[in-house]
Amino acid sequence: MLPENLVSLKKINGYIDLEKLQNSLKTLLEPFGGIENIFSDFANEKILIKPNLVAPVNFEQGATTNPYLVRALVELLYDKLNNPQILVGDGASVGQDTEEAFEVCGFKELLQESSVSYMNIKLVDIKEEEFIPYQVKKGRVFQEIYLPALLQEIDHIINMPVLKTHDVFPATLGLKNLKGLIREQEKKLFHQTGLTDAIVDLNLCLADLPVQIFTIYDGSIAMEGYGPVDGTPVNFELLGAAANIAAGDTVLSRCLGIKPEEIHYLTAAGSRGLAPERSAKLKIIGEQLKDVSKNFLVPKLKDEFYQQHEINLIDRGGCSGCRHLLDNIISSWSEEEISQISGHTIFLGPDGQEIDSNNPCIQLGVCTKNLNVSGLYIPGCPPHPQIIKDYLF
Ligand code: SF4
Repeated sequence: MLPENLVSLKKINGYIDLEKLQNSLKTLLEPFGGIENIFSDFANEKILIKPNLVAPVNFEQGATTNPYLVRALVELLYDKLNNPQILVGDGASVGQDTEEAFEVCGFKELLQESSVSYMNIKLVDIKEEEFIPYQVKKGRVFQEIYLPALLQEIDHIINMPVLKTHDVFPATLGLKNLKGLIREQEKKLFHQTGLTDAIVDLNLCLADLPVQIFTIYDGSIAMEGYGPVDGTPVNFELLGAAANIAAGDTVLSRCLGIKPEEIHYLTAAGSRGLAPERSAKLKIIGEQLKDVSKNFLVPKLKDEFYQQHEINLIDRGGCSGCRHLLDNIISSWSEEEISQISGHTIFLGPDGQEIDSNNPCIQLGVCTKNLNVSGLYIPGCPPHPQIIKDYLF
């Protein structure tokens, strides 16, 4: 059993040199006993590496997992284990093509070129897999979730999220990266039913499977601003590792200058049994937090911004999910787009019944559904940024 309260951090120097990356990975994984200990060395162990291939965007933009890091890891796995079978698989986000992502993100070139042909690697487009229902024992939103049938044959998942700020949550890290394993229709459903609880349901479901999940955080090139795709790359040169994903997310969010308690799915994961026991204080090994942390830009609009644009924001009893989302997406809109909601009242949260507005109204998110105003209701919890655009423009 690997220590759940341990999070390893390692600064790297450059993000392409395979030998340097391998050495950094060895140091990073040493506190867990190294690769041989993490992936108990039985012959033919089947390992699924789950990068973040949200969209066909080159990793140097900070949106997708560094393929050189994956290649360095794959070589180490072959070096240290006894003929492992390795799958590298993800499902790109809704409407995006995973095969194209494998190509554009450099995975085809780096994992299928002749120099690694002796290795038993397969790139898997998760979207094209057979899906079967898996039970969620303590699910809040889902009692079962459809996941790839191939998970039944897998011994280990190596979860490899990129460190990024995010338009719905302040950050997307390890717990959320596993959303790439679900079907496209469920990705949409997750937003409609409530992303926070849905992400925790998914992780509870995976935690019950006889598959070990180990997370390696890729902060070689991270992203700030309008993540998870349109933000600004940050040459962060940091790797992290954790056996417990909530523990890893807690420490890595701090590395981005974001308080873990601001990330709703992370606090929910803690309260629903996915974090280490409270008595097991988190232990950070390798680098000191103060030496590697940076305040990543997370778009936050001041109330004066809304006043200036004559947008009346009424936030009554909502969580910060919709407010963060609104700040983030409006920050990325053009003046012309913003002008289209000028003069509107936007309701957030369920407690605005007594509000009387003469302006055209927008009810943002499921918890505004029963408000006694005749506004444009935009479903979702929080709504997907594209759905908001579709409703408004
Ligand atoms: S404000 Fe309501 S709809 Fe928006 S994220 Fe929070 S709970 Fe969901």
